[in-house]
Amino acid sequence: MTRTVFTGGQVFDGTGSAAFPGDVVLEGDRIVEVRVGRHEVPDGAVAVDVTGHTVMPGLIESHAHLTFPSAVGHIDPRFNPPVDVSFFRHIEGFESELARTERNAAILLDAGFTSAYSAGSLLPMPVEPVVRDKIRAGVIPGPRLLAAAAERDNHPQRPDGHFEADWQGPEACATWVREHAAQGFDSVKFLVSNDDVFVPGGSHMTQYTAEELNAAGQAARETGVWLNGHCQSPESVKLAVKAGFRSIYHCTYADEEALDLLESVKDFAFVSPAPGIIYANVYEGEEFGITSEVARTMGSVDALDGMRAIYPEICKRGIRALIGGDYGFPNNPIGRNARDLGLFVRELGYSPVEALVAATQYGGQLMGMGDELGLLKPGYLADLLVVEGDPTTDVTLLEDADNLAFIVQGGAFHKSPSPLAA
Ligand SMILES: [Zn+2]
Repeated sequence: MTRTVFTGGQVFDGTGSAAFPGDVVLEGDRIVEVRVGRHEVPDGAVAVDVTGHTVMPGLIESHAHLTFPSAVGHIDPRFNPPVDVSFFRHIEGFESELARTERNAAILLDAGFTSAYSAGSLLPMPVEPVVRDKIRAGVIPGPRLLAAAAERDNHPQRPDGHFEADWQGPEACATWVREHAAQGFDSVKFLVSNDDVFVPGGSHMTQYTAEELNAAGQAARETGVWLNGHCQSPESVKLAVKAGFRSIYHCTYADEEALDLLESVKDFAFVSPAPGIIYANVYEGEEFGITSEVARTMGSVDALDGMRAIYPEICKRGIRALIGGDYGFPNNPIGRNARDLGLFVRELGYSPVEALVAATQYGGQLMGMGDELGLLKPGYLADLLVVEGDPTTDVTLLEDADNLAFIVQGGAFHKSPSPLAA
């Protein structure tokens, strides 16, 4: 097998150490060597001169919504809650949703995200497992994907208006988990708290009981799926931790007790603040009808303040907070996900290296592949980027795909500036 050596550049290996001059050697789908300093390129190896660039692990999105309609170059104003949700009246069926999700997967990979953990589907259809499997089979381009079921709220009136008998209660929650596990989903998402976006004051409403969530947790352990929770209120964070949820999203209004609980499960659980959408609502929504008044009503102004208060503390306590989340809205389209890195630095108090670790090492752990994904280390999968400049001093370089000279996934060159890809 031919060896490829990225040489002449800086290496950021994802561990949190500073970037260093070095070489990264690939063979097949793996990284076989990471060498500090400059070395002779061995006979028969292909040398790629990456002077002026940084080699780093591929980015990992922790809270993807590939079924959301808006992506860079494909803005769909019909899914723009609370201003417009007419999207739901135009759902065409499995084929269209599949096609859109595949398009979004390709756009996310083009943005440098070589893996993505889904935080939930918009639709009660098993689109994501199909997309995951097609990517895995090498049939379509996209990030390595873990598929999540449709987001479950706890109101018996379903989006199409009908009432579902026996929607609530522990048994219904456990059944939901078992059914989605049987359909091949990797995780199941519960809207443990409501959200100001859906109902005024919703972010402070916890809509599941401990009994319901514990039953879901038990079913998840039995069937081998992970649980994701949309958790804004302090109570929702606490209930989710106690029920064994693994991805606990937002945590915007977590109190001291909720933080202590999160810290107690920090080797197991992950949090994702999803600052991109909140920032976009507060500062960049005007064009889509999200005026400052609307942003305030939908809770985004408070949410940004909440995140700014809590995430420096989450970082300090060593709770793994990850980048990404809630891209897919008109003012926050899929493909712009790397913006979260800059928001971690500017809004949440992370250093550039801490933000990069959140986007790489922690992402690999979230994917359940921490022993082979998210770091540049011998034996790890060759998922990496070659970035013009030094993202360890300026993470915003990652926002512009023109700065991504190479995108490599499993040793295959998805993007390359020269015919060398062949
Ligand atoms: Zn979300």
